[in-house]
Amino acid sequence: MSNKVEIGSTGLFVNPIGLGTNAVGGHNIFPNLKDETGKEIVRAALQNDINFIDTAYMYGPEKSEILIGEVLKETGQRANVVLATKGGQKYMNDKMEVDNSPKFLRETVENSLRRLQTDYIDLFYIHFPDEQTPKYEAVGELHRLKEEGKIRSIGVSNFSMNQLREGNKDGYIEVIQSGYNLFKRDAEEDLIPYSLENNISFIPYFPLASGLLTGKFSPNSTFEDGRAKNPLFQGEAFIQNLNKVDELKAIANNKHVAVSNLVLAWYLKQESIDVVIPGAKKPEQVLENIKTLEIKLSKDEINEISKIFH
Ligand code: NAP
Repeated sequence: MSNKVEIGSTGLFVNPIGLGTNAVGGHNIFPNLKDETGKEIVRAALQNDINFIDTAYMYGPEKSEILIGEVLKETGQRANVVLATKGGQKYMNDKMEVDNSPKFLRETVENSLRRLQTDYIDLFYIHFPDEQTPKYEAVGELHRLKEEGKIRSIGVSNFSMNQLREGNKDGYIEVIQSGYNLFKRDAEEDLIPYSLENNISFIPYFPLASGLLTGKFSPNSTFEDGRAKNPLFQGEAFIQNLNKVDELKAIANNKHVAVSNLVLAWYLKQESIDVVIPGAKKPEQVLENIKTLEIKLSKDEINEISKIFH
Protein backbone atom coordinates (compact mmCIF):
# COMPACT_ATOMS: atom_id res chain seq x y z
CA MET A 1 0.00 0.00 0.00
CA SER A 2 1.24 3.43 -0.88
CA ASN A 3 1.12 6.34 1.48
CA LYS A 4 -1.83 8.47 0.57
CA VAL A 5 -1.49 12.26 0.34
CA GLU A 6 -4.18 14.89 0.70
CA ILE A 7 -5.02 16.91 -2.42
CA GLY A 8 -4.46 20.41 -1.03
CA SER A 9 -6.94 20.78 1.80
CA THR A 10 -9.83 18.99 0.11
CA GLY A 11 -9.96 16.12 2.60
CA LEU A 12 -9.43 13.76 -0.37
CA PHE A 13 -6.57 11.33 0.10
CA VAL A 14 -4.93 9.75 -2.94
CA ASN A 15 -2.00 7.78 -4.19
CA PRO A 16 0.33 10.50 -5.59
CA ILE A 17 0.26 8.62 -8.89
CA GLY A 18 -3.20 9.02 -10.39
CA LEU A 19 -4.58 8.04 -13.78
CA GLY A 20 -5.42 10.44 -16.61
CA THR A 21 -8.10 8.96 -18.84
CA ASN A 22 -8.41 11.01 -22.00
CA ALA A 23 -7.35 7.79 -23.82
CA VAL A 24 -10.07 5.79 -22.05
CA GLY A 25 -12.95 6.22 -24.48
CA GLY A 26 -11.53 9.49 -25.82
CA HIS A 27 -12.34 8.66 -29.44
CA ASN A 28 -12.58 12.35 -30.33
CA ILE A 29 -8.97 12.88 -29.14
CA PHE A 30 -7.08 9.76 -30.26
CA PRO A 31 -7.61 7.48 -33.29
CA ASN A 32 -8.14 3.71 -32.99
CA LEU A 33 -8.93 3.47 -29.28
CA LYS A 34 -10.64 0.30 -28.09
CA ASP A 35 -13.18 0.62 -25.30
CA GLU A 36 -12.15 -2.72 -23.77
CA THR A 37 -8.49 -1.59 -23.60
CA GLY A 38 -9.69 1.58 -21.90
CA LYS A 39 -11.48 -0.47 -19.28
CA GLU A 40 -8.40 -2.68 -18.83
CA ILE A 41 -6.36 0.47 -18.15
CA VAL A 42 -8.77 1.53 -15.41
CA ARG A 43 -8.83 -1.98 -13.92
CA ALA A 44 -5.00 -2.10 -13.96
CA ALA A 45 -4.92 1.19 -12.06
CA LEU A 46 -7.40 0.00 -9.44
CA GLN A 47 -5.59 -3.31 -8.99
CA ASN A 48 -2.33 -1.48 -8.38
CA ASP A 49 -3.53 0.83 -5.63
CA ILE A 50 -4.10 3.86 -7.88
CA ASN A 51 -7.21 5.49 -6.45
CA PHE A 52 -7.35 8.87 -8.22
CA ILE A 53 -9.01 8.90 -11.64
CA ASP A 54 -9.19 12.01 -13.79
CA THR A 55 -11.82 12.11 -16.53
CA ALA A 56 -14.07 14.65 -18.28
CA TYR A 57 -17.34 14.97 -20.18
CA MET A 58 -15.26 15.96 -23.20
CA TYR A 59 -13.35 12.67 -23.47
CA GLY A 60 -15.48 10.81 -25.97
CA PRO A 61 -17.53 12.95 -25.39
CA GLU A 62 -19.22 11.10 -22.53
CA LYS A 63 -17.58 7.74 -23.33
CA SER A 64 -14.72 8.03 -20.84
CA GLU A 65 -17.12 8.71 -17.96
CA ILE A 66 -19.38 5.86 -19.11
CA LEU A 67 -16.53 3.30 -19.29
CA ILE A 68 -15.17 4.37 -15.89
CA GLY A 69 -18.68 4.15 -14.40
CA GLU A 70 -18.97 0.61 -15.76
CA VAL A 71 -15.63 -0.49 -14.28
CA LEU A 72 -16.46 1.04 -10.90
CA LYS A 73 -19.80 -0.75 -10.91
CA GLU A 74 -18.29 -4.07 -11.98
CA THR A 75 -15.45 -3.94 -9.43
CA GLY A 76 -17.52 -2.46 -6.60
CA GLN A 77 -14.65 -0.02 -6.02
CA ARG A 78 -16.52 3.32 -6.07
CA ALA A 79 -16.08 3.98 -2.37
CA ASN A 80 -12.30 3.41 -2.60
CA VAL A 81 -11.81 5.78 -5.54
CA VAL A 82 -11.38 9.54 -5.67
CA LEU A 83 -13.14 10.50 -8.86
CA ALA A 84 -12.43 13.76 -10.67
CA THR A 85 -14.34 14.93 -13.71
CA LYS A 86 -14.73 18.14 -15.67
CA GLY A 87 -17.56 19.84 -17.50
CA GLY A 88 -18.96 23.09 -18.75
CA GLN A 89 -18.96 22.24 -22.44
CA LYS A 90 -21.54 20.84 -24.85
CA TYR A 91 -21.62 19.65 -28.41
CA MET A 92 -23.83 21.90 -30.54
CA ASN A 93 -24.09 21.15 -34.28
CA ASP A 94 -20.93 19.03 -34.12
CA LYS A 95 -19.00 21.85 -32.46
CA MET A 96 -17.84 22.01 -28.85
CA GLU A 97 -19.29 25.06 -27.11
CA VAL A 98 -18.13 26.25 -23.70
CA ASP A 99 -20.85 27.17 -21.21
CA ASN A 100 -20.02 28.01 -17.57
CA SER A 101 -23.49 29.36 -16.73
CA PRO A 102 -24.69 28.20 -13.31
CA LYS A 103 -27.74 26.52 -14.88
CA PHE A 104 -25.65 24.52 -17.34
CA LEU A 105 -23.00 23.58 -14.75
CA ARG A 106 -25.73 22.11 -12.56
CA GLU A 107 -27.09 20.17 -15.53
CA THR A 108 -23.64 18.92 -16.48
CA VAL A 109 -22.88 17.69 -12.94
CA GLU A 110 -26.18 15.75 -12.92
CA ASN A 111 -25.29 14.17 -16.28
CA SER A 112 -21.78 13.21 -15.11
CA LEU A 113 -23.25 11.60 -12.00
CA ARG A 114 -25.51 9.49 -14.19
CA ARG A 115 -22.73 8.42 -16.57
CA LEU A 116 -20.35 7.62 -13.71
CA GLN A 117 -23.13 5.68 -11.92
CA THR A 118 -22.50 7.48 -8.65
CA ASP A 119 -24.24 10.00 -6.43
CA TYR A 120 -21.22 12.19 -5.71
CA ILE A 121 -18.18 13.46 -7.61
CA ASP A 122 -15.08 13.93 -5.45
CA LEU A 123 -13.59 16.73 -7.50
CA PHE A 124 -15.46 18.64 -10.16
CA TYR A 125 -13.68 21.10 -12.44
CA ILE A 126 -14.86 23.75 -14.84
CA HIS A 127 -12.90 22.34 -17.80
CA PHE A 128 -12.49 25.56 -19.81
CA PRO A 129 -13.52 29.15 -19.08
CA ASP A 130 -16.25 30.66 -21.25
CA GLU A 131 -16.27 34.32 -22.26
CA GLN A 132 -19.55 35.43 -20.76
CA THR A 133 -20.02 34.04 -17.24
CA PRO A 134 -18.39 35.95 -14.34
CA LYS A 135 -16.02 33.33 -12.96
CA TYR A 136 -17.08 33.79 -9.31
CA GLU A 137 -20.70 33.08 -10.35
CA ALA A 138 -19.67 29.83 -12.04
CA VAL A 139 -17.58 28.80 -9.03
CA GLY A 140 -20.42 29.95 -6.71
CA GLU A 141 -22.73 27.39 -8.33
CA LEU A 142 -20.11 24.68 -7.74
CA HIS A 143 -20.03 25.81 -4.11
CA ARG A 144 -23.80 25.27 -3.87
CA LEU A 145 -23.42 21.82 -5.49
CA LYS A 146 -20.77 21.07 -2.88
CA GLU A 147 -23.09 22.15 -0.06
CA GLU A 148 -25.72 19.80 -1.51
CA GLY A 149 -23.19 16.93 -1.44
CA LYS A 150 -23.21 16.34 -5.21
CA ILE A 151 -19.56 17.30 -5.49
CA ARG A 152 -16.94 17.19 -2.74
CA SER A 153 -14.42 19.74 -3.97
CA ILE A 154 -14.04 22.47 -6.55
CA GLY A 155 -11.51 22.78 -9.35
CA VAL A 156 -10.91 24.92 -12.40
CA SER A 157 -8.87 24.09 -15.46
CA ASN A 158 -7.31 26.13 -18.24
CA PHE A 159 -8.00 29.38 -16.38
CA SER A 160 -5.70 32.36 -16.95
CA MET A 161 -4.28 34.11 -13.90
CA ASN A 162 -6.99 36.79 -14.09
CA GLN A 163 -9.78 34.25 -14.46
CA LEU A 164 -8.40 32.35 -11.51
CA ARG A 165 -8.32 35.47 -9.31
CA GLU A 166 -11.86 36.36 -10.35
CA GLY A 167 -13.09 32.79 -9.84
CA ASN A 168 -11.50 32.60 -6.41
CA LYS A 169 -13.01 35.87 -5.12
CA ASP A 170 -14.79 33.93 -2.34
CA GLY A 171 -11.90 31.53 -1.74
CA TYR A 172 -13.82 28.46 -2.96
CA ILE A 173 -11.30 27.09 -5.50
CA GLU A 174 -9.39 24.08 -4.15
CA VAL A 175 -7.62 22.70 -7.22
CA ILE A 176 -6.17 24.15 -10.41
CA GLN A 177 -5.43 21.88 -13.36
CA SER A 178 -3.25 23.35 -16.04
CA GLY A 179 -0.79 22.32 -18.75
CA TYR A 180 2.64 21.98 -17.15
CA ASN A 181 5.66 19.80 -17.78
CA LEU A 182 9.44 20.06 -18.05
CA PHE A 183 9.08 21.58 -21.53
CA LYS A 184 6.31 24.01 -20.54
CA ARG A 185 6.96 25.74 -17.27
CA ASP A 186 5.19 29.11 -17.56
CA ALA A 187 2.85 28.19 -14.69
CA GLU A 188 5.87 28.66 -12.39
CA GLU A 189 5.51 32.42 -12.98
CA ASP A 190 1.94 32.88 -11.81
CA LEU A 191 -0.44 29.93 -11.33
CA ILE A 192 1.91 27.92 -9.13
CA PRO A 193 2.90 30.79 -6.78
CA TYR A 194 -0.80 31.74 -6.54
CA SER A 195 -1.68 28.11 -5.70
CA LEU A 196 0.89 28.07 -2.93
CA GLU A 197 -0.29 31.36 -1.46
CA ASN A 198 -3.93 30.32 -1.55
CA ASN A 199 -3.70 26.74 -0.36
CA ILE A 200 -4.73 25.37 -3.76
CA SER A 201 -3.37 22.11 -5.15
CA PHE A 202 -1.84 22.38 -8.64
CA ILE A 203 -2.39 19.34 -10.89
CA PRO A 204 -0.30 19.38 -14.06
CA TYR A 205 -1.71 17.91 -17.24
CA PHE A 206 0.48 16.53 -20.06
CA PRO A 207 3.07 15.56 -17.39
CA LEU A 208 4.82 13.26 -19.86
CA ALA A 209 4.54 15.82 -22.69
CA SER A 210 2.32 13.32 -24.53
CA GLY A 211 4.96 10.59 -24.25
CA LEU A 212 7.98 12.69 -25.26
CA LEU A 213 9.23 12.64 -21.66
CA THR A 214 9.29 8.85 -21.53
CA GLY A 215 12.45 8.66 -23.67
CA LYS A 216 10.91 6.23 -26.18
CA PHE A 217 11.07 8.43 -29.29
CA SER A 218 13.87 8.96 -31.83
CA PRO A 219 14.30 11.40 -34.75
CA ASN A 220 12.68 8.74 -36.96
CA SER A 221 9.47 8.48 -34.92
CA THR A 222 6.29 9.39 -36.81
CA PHE A 223 2.88 10.29 -35.38
CA GLU A 224 -0.73 9.89 -36.51
CA ASP A 225 -2.52 11.58 -33.62
CA GLY A 226 -2.40 15.12 -32.15
CA ARG A 227 1.39 14.82 -31.90
CA ALA A 228 1.57 15.20 -35.71
CA LYS A 229 0.73 18.89 -35.15
CA ASN A 230 2.10 19.42 -31.63
CA PRO A 231 4.97 21.99 -31.81
CA LEU A 232 7.08 19.85 -29.42
CA PHE A 233 7.22 17.12 -32.07
CA GLN A 234 8.07 19.30 -35.13
CA GLY A 235 11.32 19.56 -37.09
CA GLU A 236 14.34 21.10 -35.38
CA ALA A 237 12.42 21.68 -32.12
CA PHE A 238 11.73 17.94 -31.92
CA ILE A 239 15.44 17.14 -32.35
CA GLN A 240 16.42 19.65 -29.64
CA ASN A 241 13.76 18.23 -27.35
CA LEU A 242 15.06 14.70 -27.92
CA ASN A 243 18.54 15.91 -26.99
CA LYS A 244 17.20 17.18 -23.68
CA VAL A 245 15.46 13.87 -23.08
CA ASP A 246 18.81 12.14 -23.77
CA GLU A 247 20.29 14.13 -20.88
CA LEU A 248 17.43 12.89 -18.70
CA LYS A 249 18.15 9.36 -19.88
CA ALA A 250 21.71 9.61 -18.60
CA ILE A 251 20.42 10.51 -15.12
CA ALA A 252 17.75 7.79 -15.28
CA ASN A 253 20.28 5.15 -16.37
CA ASN A 254 22.57 6.04 -13.47
CA LYS A 255 19.70 5.48 -11.08
CA HIS A 256 18.44 2.37 -12.93
CA VAL A 257 14.99 3.88 -13.33
CA ALA A 258 12.78 4.70 -16.33
CA VAL A 259 12.80 8.27 -17.69
CA SER A 260 9.03 8.55 -17.16
CA ASN A 261 9.47 7.69 -13.47
CA LEU A 262 12.24 10.24 -13.05
CA VAL A 263 10.07 12.94 -14.60
CA LEU A 264 6.96 12.14 -12.57
CA ALA A 265 9.04 12.05 -9.38
CA TRP A 266 10.41 15.51 -10.23
CA TYR A 267 6.88 17.00 -10.26
CA LEU A 268 5.97 15.34 -6.97
CA LYS A 269 8.91 17.06 -5.29
CA GLN A 270 7.19 20.42 -5.76
CA GLU A 271 5.31 21.83 -2.82
CA SER A 272 2.28 22.86 -4.92
CA ILE A 273 1.87 19.42 -6.55
CA ASP A 274 0.29 16.59 -4.55
CA VAL A 275 -0.66 14.21 -7.35
CA VAL A 276 0.13 13.61 -11.02
CA ILE A 277 -2.21 12.12 -13.62
CA PRO A 278 -0.19 10.56 -16.45
CA GLY A 279 -2.36 9.13 -19.22
CA ALA A 280 -1.94 5.63 -20.64
CA LYS A 281 -2.82 3.80 -23.85
CA LYS A 282 -2.22 0.35 -22.39
CA PRO A 283 -2.23 -1.26 -18.93
CA GLU A 284 1.57 -1.85 -19.03
CA GLN A 285 2.13 1.92 -18.99
CA VAL A 286 0.06 2.21 -15.81
CA LEU A 287 2.22 -0.47 -14.20
CA GLU A 288 5.36 1.37 -15.28
CA ASN A 289 4.18 4.77 -14.06
CA ILE A 290 3.28 3.51 -10.59
CA LYS A 291 6.95 2.59 -10.07
CA THR A 292 7.59 6.33 -9.62
CA LEU A 293 6.76 5.79 -5.96
CA GLU A 294 9.95 3.77 -5.55
CA ILE A 295 12.18 6.70 -6.57
CA LYS A 296 13.97 9.10 -4.27
CA LEU A 297 15.40 12.27 -5.79
CA SER A 298 18.15 14.25 -4.10
CA LYS A 299 18.22 18.06 -4.17
CA ASP A 300 21.14 17.89 -6.61
CA GLU A 301 19.23 15.60 -8.95
CA ILE A 302 16.17 17.87 -8.84
CA ASN A 303 18.33 20.86 -9.75
CA GLU A 304 20.16 18.93 -12.44
CA ILE A 305 16.87 17.95 -14.10
CA SER A 306 15.55 21.51 -13.76
CA LYS A 307 18.61 22.97 -15.46
CA ILE A 308 18.31 20.75 -18.55
CA PHE A 309 14.95 22.36 -19.29
CA HIS A 310 15.76 26.00 -18.58
P1 NAP B 1 0.67 12.66 -20.84
O1 NAP B 1 0.30 12.13 -19.52
O2 NAP B 1 1.72 13.68 -20.97
O3 NAP B 1 1.10 11.44 -21.80
C1 NAP B 1 0.38 10.26 -21.77
C2 NAP B 1 0.78 9.40 -22.96
O4 NAP B 1 2.17 9.04 -22.90
C3 NAP B 1 0.03 8.09 -22.97
O5 NAP B 1 -1.23 8.21 -23.58
C4 NAP B 1 0.98 7.18 -23.75
O6 NAP B 1 0.83 7.50 -25.16
C5 NAP B 1 2.33 7.67 -23.26
N1 NAP B 1 2.80 6.97 -22.04
C6 NAP B 1 2.28 7.04 -20.77
N2 NAP B 1 3.01 6.32 -19.90
C7 NAP B 1 4.00 5.77 -20.61
C8 NAP B 1 5.07 4.92 -20.27
N3 NAP B 1 5.28 4.51 -19.01
N4 NAP B 1 5.93 4.53 -21.27
C9 NAP B 1 5.75 4.94 -22.53
N5 NAP B 1 4.74 5.75 -22.91
C10 NAP B 1 3.88 6.16 -21.97
O7 NAP B 1 -0.60 13.24 -21.62
P2 NAP B 1 -2.16 13.11 -21.42
O8 NAP B 1 -2.57 11.73 -21.09
O9 NAP B 1 -2.79 13.77 -22.58
O10 NAP B 1 -2.42 14.02 -20.12
C11 NAP B 1 -2.58 13.46 -18.84
C12 NAP B 1 -4.01 13.57 -18.37
O11 NAP B 1 -4.31 14.95 -18.11
C13 NAP B 1 -5.05 13.15 -19.40
O12 NAP B 1 -5.21 11.75 -19.50
C14 NAP B 1 -6.27 13.89 -18.90
O13 NAP B 1 -6.88 13.16 -17.86
C15 NAP B 1 -5.67 15.19 -18.39
N6 NAP B 1 -5.73 16.32 -19.36
C16 NAP B 1 -6.44 17.41 -19.00
C17 NAP B 1 -6.54 18.50 -19.86
C18 NAP B 1 -7.34 19.69 -19.45
O14 NAP B 1 -7.69 20.52 -20.31
N7 NAP B 1 -7.66 19.84 -18.19
C19 NAP B 1 -5.88 18.48 -21.10
C20 NAP B 1 -5.12 17.35 -21.42
C21 NAP B 1 -5.06 16.28 -20.54
P3 NAP B 1 1.44 6.63 -26.36
O15 NAP B 1 1.51 5.19 -25.92
O16 NAP B 1 0.51 6.87 -27.49
O17 NAP B 1 2.81 7.22 -26.61
